[in-house]
Amino acid sequence: MVVNSAIRISTRSNVELVDITKGVSKALQDAGITSGIILVYTPHTTSALLVNENERGLVTDLTREVQRLVDWESAYEHNRVDNNAPSHITGAFLGPSVVLPVIDGELNLGTWQSIFFVELDGPRDRRVITIASGE
Ligand code: ZN
Repeated sequence: MVVNSAIRISTRSNVELVDITKGVSKALQDAGITSGIILVYTPHTTSALLVNENERGLVTDLTREVQRLVDWESAYEHNRVDNNAPSHITGAFLGPSVVLPVIDGELNLGTWQSIFFVELDGPRDRRVITIASGE
């Protein structure tokens, strides 16, 4: 069985990590799959997804360091179009998707793992797609 759904996110900052673990868990529960995988995908070119610990200090650290992956002040070619080249490049480096294991009807995340949507050109209204596949 394959079940698609979407999670809506409203971000508040230019760069922001948003914990979407509850939304992905709900999508999985609604899908009714007990064993398989769930793909979480952002269809936006200035965002990304990652899995890590939702500890307040670490989220602050990650938010800061994500902004140091590329030089935001460089004279990028794309900035002539809409002035957000660093957002695209950082999104490209981090990647648009994560795939997670589903075991016994639950997201099989590690104890300290959460799923984060990474806003890189906010604030914006965003959409994340989930595809649960299994039985
Ligand atoms: Zn752009």
